[in-house]
Amino acid sequence: MKRSTTILTAILTSVLAIAVSAQRGGRGGAPGQQGTPTPPGPPRVEELKKEVAADIETMKVATQQMVDQVFSFGELGFQEFETSKYLTGILEKNGFRIERGFAGIPTAWVATWGNGKPVIALGSDIDDIPQASQKPGVGYHDPIIEGAPGHGEGHNSGVPLNVTAALAVKKIMEREKLPGTLKLWPGVAEELVGAKMYYIRAGMFRDVDVNLFAHVGSNLGVSWGAGFGTGLQSVEYTFTGESAHAAAQPWRGRSALDAVEMMDIGWNFRREHLRLQQRSHSVIVNGGDQPNVVPPNASVWYYFRETDYPHIKELREIGDAMAKAAAMMTNTEVTSRILGAAWPQHMNKTVAETMYTNIQNIGLPKWDDADITLAKGIQRELKQPQIGLATQIGQLRGGLDPEQNMGGPSDDIGDVSWNVPTATLGYPANIPNLPGHNWANAIAMATPIAHKGVTAGAKVQAMTVIDLLMRPELVQQAWDYFRNVQTKDQKYIPFISDKDQPALWLNEKIMQKYGPEMKKLYYDPTKYKTYLEQLGIKYPTVR
Ligand SMILES: [Zn+2]
Repeated sequence: MKRSTTILTAILTSVLAIAVSAQRGGRGGAPGQQGTPTPPGPPRVEELKKEVAADIETMKVATQQMVDQVFSFGELGFQEFETSKYLTGILEKNGFRIERGFAGIPTAWVATWGNGKPVIALGSDIDDIPQASQKPGVGYHDPIIEGAPGHGEGHNSGVPLNVTAALAVKKIMEREKLPGTLKLWPGVAEELVGAKMYYIRAGMFRDVDVNLFAHVGSNLGVSWGAGFGTGLQSVEYTFTGESAHAAAQPWRGRSALDAVEMMDIGWNFRREHLRLQQRSHSVIVNGGDQPNVVPPNASVWYYFRETDYPHIKELREIGDAMAKAAAMMTNTEVTSRILGAAWPQHMNKTVAETMYTNIQNIGLPKWDDADITLAKGIQRELKQPQIGLATQIGQLRGGLDPEQNMGGPSDDIGDVSWNVPTATLGYPANIPNLPGHNWANAIAMATPIAHKGVTAGAKVQAMTVIDLLMRPELVQQAWDYFRNVQTKDQKYIPFISDKDQPALWLNEKIMQKYGPEMKKLYYDPTKYKTYLEQLGIKYPTVR
């Protein structure tokens, strides 16, 4: 008894530690097997990797400007219009061919440069978090615009990292006449897990040999195999009844809001008898207009999360049954539509091992006193251990026993990982011990912490691209793992049907409300060195 309690405690403790350090599943530090970092390549490859890293060091100002600029746009999922215009503009100026409006999503794009094989894709997310507006460099809650969205996940940094890496690699490819194609793409609406399955359906990865993803974290890291975390289906249920005067003739009404409440009550009772691994949560998006009108329509939006495909499917089926039952109880009708979905992630062993060798070579940025003061300031504010910033890179882990996965967050990079060998680079642009999806996670994201973290990450990403371009045996090994280990018994089945369409309307109203005010505060690099300078913030400002 005692032994199993201790093991469970250990598992839960590590789940919590990972949740706060990485924010999302499948990244660094998970227990399981150790990986073996890929040995160095031939001398010429290692020379070019050193050169590309040194070049990225000289690109620091351009990288910082991109990070700050996207931070200042602060756009929510499916509404990343300024962000996408800006990033594709830079890539186009540098000779990339841009395909806009990819998969019928106006803010999605693919930027391609080069010729022939291998095709290396570089992706990262670009959307932000509702109500996470926050002054960068200030170690307590202080919104730039009260109630506005903000980069409370740090998605302003990943594509700037990939652009930096790609531009540096491109120079070397041109000079050395290296064959190969670079393909950059943005994770639109990742917070809604809303786009990547549509990218797959539209063929974005059909010709891709390896996909390198980048996600902000508080350390440099990569892992392989199935990590901690879940996949999910995001489903909106809409009930329809009949309105009536709620006091004069309530018996003539059929309340759609009652149905929503009955569904929520039913689900929360059922929750006790679901697997411990599941995570489910909902918000009422339409609860009626005013109390004296029986609500004729109402909607509730659920995320159904589980650790593997069959369980995710089953959880949604339970949700559908609850909705049907609630409609019967209230004499209303119900329809549902899928707003997003994500497969649980499975990262490629060879790609992760190759990336890890480059992580070891680059190491963590040198933090200065100001960086550490800001980190400790917000950790103190949130009553978390004041550990400052990462000082040691994590281990290369993978091959986690699925039984040990007790659930957690999701990321639709999972879908991509089941279609092409993929690994996610975690890079140290944020502060450890933050809650995630919160204003606190925006504090570091337009400060030297993010700038240094992105430069370090760009070096690792670029070096890994050089490895993959010049060492075809690595691409071969990655596909061996993908075909013979990862997808041997489990093939990708999309959660969307051929008819489902991206939920492009989401967040439209919020951006209409806050966009005009936010626009006045877009970063202007022609006038200010940094966004901190433009906002007149002393770095760091802590209590
Ligand atoms: Zn994210």
